Amino acid sequence: MASYDVIIIGAGPGGYVCAIRCAQLGLKVACVEGRETLGGTCLNVGCIPSKALLHASHMLHEAEHNFAEMGLKGKSPSVDWKQMLTYKQSTVDTNTKGIEFLFKKNKIDWLKGWGSIPEAGKVKVGEEVHEAKNIVIATGSAAASLPGVEVDEKVVVTSTGALELGKVPKSLVVIGAGVIGLELGSVYARLGSEVTVVEYLDAITPGMDPEVQKTFQRMLTKQGLKFIMGAAVQKTEATKTKAKVHYKLRKDDSEAVLDADVVLVSTGRKPFVDGLGLEGLGVEMTERGQIKVGKDWQTNVSGVYAIGDVIEGPMLAHKAEDEGMAAAEQVAGKHGHVNYGVIPGVIYTHPEVANVGETEATLKEAGRAYKVGKFSFMGNARAKAVFAGDGFVKILADKETDRILGCHIIGPGAGDLIHEVCVAMEFGASAEDLAMTCHAHPTYSEAVREAALACGDGAIHM
Ligand code: FAD
Repeated sequence: MASYDVIIIGAGPGGYVCAIRCAQLGLKVACVEGRETLGGTCLNVGCIPSKALLHASHMLHEAEHNFAEMGLKGKSPSVDWKQMLTYKQSTVDTNTKGIEFLFKKNKIDWLKGWGSIPEAGKVKVGEEVHEAKNIVIATGSAAASLPGVEVDEKVVVTSTGALELGKVPKSLVVIGAGVIGLELGSVYARLGSEVTVVEYLDAITPGMDPEVQKTFQRMLTKQGLKFIMGAAVQKTEATKTKAKVHYKLRKDDSEAVLDADVVLVSTGRKPFVDGLGLEGLGVEMTERGQIKVGKDWQTNVSGVYAIGDVIEGPMLAHKAEDEGMAAAEQVAGKHGHVNYGVIPGVIYTHPEVANVGETEATLKEAGRAYKVGKFSFMGNARAKAVFAGDGFVKILADKETDRILGCHIIGPGAGDLIHEVCVAMEFGASAEDLAMTCHAHPTYSEAVREAALACGDGAIHM
């Protein structure tokens, strides 16, 4: 038995970042992880492998669609799926080994195995019970299930299976038009699969700016993805090599069936707390199965904290990381803080989609007067040069004070562009502050500045 200042359960972006920050603050730290490798969902079966496949398939798309026009002639590359999976895995391995290195550097003990909390102040891993003054639960999330749909991770798969398919399927049905479904749907569409997305709601990517939703769906349709909207999946029937997807249209209750080689179920994720023993410990949960925490990320059980996908809020790696750092500071007696109003969200398709802060819908609901500054990438020289003029930047600012309240981008590099708006929001900047900041030419970021100018006297290049 060993004794620690803090034991963190789960080594995803929430847990490993929390462990590193605790160690930097001088605490004796251990992190429990049941997987063979560190990094959690994000590094092993989430953000990183999906971005590797998005990158590789985007390169193919560029070769097939844009090379000839730029004067790059010749045979376009063909897909070696096995090699693409090897590339994806090597990207994952480099990153997970990197966390192992950081653990050693910061003298963090990795307790290998699945952990539980028999009582406050104790963590059990295998047969060993360790003592901990503080415990941080960072056990993440798992794919949510859908009634009537049985996942076998071969023909009917979650995102985990979709990152490991034996071959590129001829046809793929994606259930759920959220971020994960659209990213992986894009990958397979670019690699040659016929992709059909079935979505219960009438718009893709729920909660996003409606103008972005419409533009995004139009662009994805142009890239070959088909959409069946307002459709409730009733069940799937699968053999070893094929599946049928039964759905009912909400508008008229008519029923139909789709055939597919592979079905990806991407209808969301749910907090993962199996085996932790939270019930016995008396930890309070929300109605949605998340661990309830206070402002300091502490649960109702003193000395037991929770962060990341397992608590409320967007299920995003950077949100988990921020909570990891903040909770570490709380544990160390400092004042950790997360600004939940400025957490960006990014979809890594092509083009990328990014947002932060309020939408027009949330502002209307709050009865807050706002103005809109919008700029199309068609007015951005750099975007046009790389065939990326479709899309726009939309900045929402307070009508009276000009303070930036939100930003929505669909276009090249959106996932990076959003951060200058995040920094501006963090500093309480006005749209004019952004508009008065010199932006290098020719860059995509000029479109952000032009949108800020459009909140005032007007954009120059529109
Ligand atoms: P996790 O990363 O889920 O880590 C939890 C860890 O705890 C796991 O390794 C698990 O094995 C371990 N664990 C659980 N229970 C125990 C136990 N009892 N004992 C020991 N270990 C335990 N987010 C983004 O921000 N950007 C993206 O591009 C992005 N892409 C994604 C793509 C996909 C396909 C998926 C599935 C998710 C994606 N996400 C993305 C979401 C992101 O992965 C999660 O928000 C993030 O991983 C949450 O971090 P976490 O630390 O809370 O939990």
